[in-house]
Amino acid sequence: MRSIASRISVMSGEGALSVFARAKELESEGRSIIHLELGEPDFHPGASVIESAVKALSEGKDRYCAVAGVPELREEIASYLKRARNIDISPANIVVAPGCKAALFFAMMALLEPGDEVLYPDPGFPGYPSITLGLGAVPVPFELSPGNRFQPDLSEVADKITRRTRAVILNSPGNPTGTVYTDAVQRAMAELAVKHDLWVLSDEIYARIIYGREYLSMLRYPGMRERTLIIDGFSKSFAMTGWRLGYTVAPPDVVPGLAMMAINSYTCVAEFTQFAAIDALRDREGNTPKMLAEFTQRRDQFVRDLNGIPGFSCQAPEGAFYAWVDIRGTGTSAEEICQILLEDAGVAAIPGAAFGSSGKDFVRFSYASSVANLREAVERIAKVSSAWQRTLVNK
Ligand code: PLP
Repeated sequence: MRSIASRISVMSGEGALSVFARAKELESEGRSIIHLELGEPDFHPGASVIESAVKALSEGKDRYCAVAGVPELREEIASYLKRARNIDISPANIVVAPGCKAALFFAMMALLEPGDEVLYPDPGFPGYPSITLGLGAVPVPFELSPGNRFQPDLSEVADKITRRTRAVILNSPGNPTGTVYTDAVQRAMAELAVKHDLWVLSDEIYARIIYGREYLSMLRYPGMRERTLIIDGFSKSFAMTGWRLGYTVAPPDVVPGLAMMAINSYTCVAEFTQFAAIDALRDREGNTPKMLAEFTQRRDQFVRDLNGIPGFSCQAPEGAFYAWVDIRGTGTSAEEICQILLEDAGVAAIPGAAFGSSGKDFVRFSYASSVANLREAVERIAKVSSAWQRTLVNK
């Protein structure tokens, strides 16, 4: 009998994409929608990046190329990581992939056996448990709670480590909470990983979008070199979401496994985009710092304005570009709030449960949108907030 593999039914989609689909539907009916659901910078790469892509194409760089990425890009990534994160990496330890999600997927596929347990942050990026389940492994959430300022609780993590635990996924700055893990938390996580001989998957995709502090990569802690895979790329820090460019920094014994995954799936990443990515990393026009300055201003304004909405409470994120709003004070569920916001106010946001059960009392707004849009969104939200204020009065 013909059937679809069971792994498909255990995997899940992304809340952001389904809200986006409904928002688009409303737009096609003529409604005005402010899109705060997707994690996509409203910037584009600078002119020099586009020129490099065009130049590479006109030079015929549109062929199959090196499986792990063109040597020029791998060298540039190594010097970028030295400059931006003070970590010494050999280009031989870098494998380029079509996006961070693909890098994460193949890294997990290269490391996990069915039945292995994988610790991951909840709330967190939906791909972590979904990919784990798809590989027949077991996702084990550790909670990021508002009471702990969304930092991992180390005793909870330690208690959840068993003989089957194979890997721990870390994401700092984190989606959706915007938390930057403290030095002490990262150090203790590193110690746990060494003690229990775990792989560490450090999703550092938001490393450059961090407000007023130095970024500490997991690779900087003792014992991490031989067990840490950094997942990073160009989608967020260089506003290149649609280019599908990411990379993994892996220990030498893992690199052949990642190359094997590449050979058996995407073969190589488009050559001309890799040459343009070199320019993005050099960032002669200062696009990333400019974008960060803009995000800083929006964060300050948007978080202050959201805290003025009855029943909303939002801690200022330390990194990334999401406002993670605690809506317990509204007396209404996050799903109902998001429905009111989208259907009645034309503001698209995501109910927190899309990021795991610990997110159920939260709503995520992306502030990768203009200051004017963010102002108007808050005005629209204020207008419809009477809906949950009535609920509170009636309770
Ligand atoms: N990891 C995290 C934490 C993310 O938030 C995202 C995108 O939203 C990704 C990975 C995927 O990145 P990419 O678009 O490069 O595949």
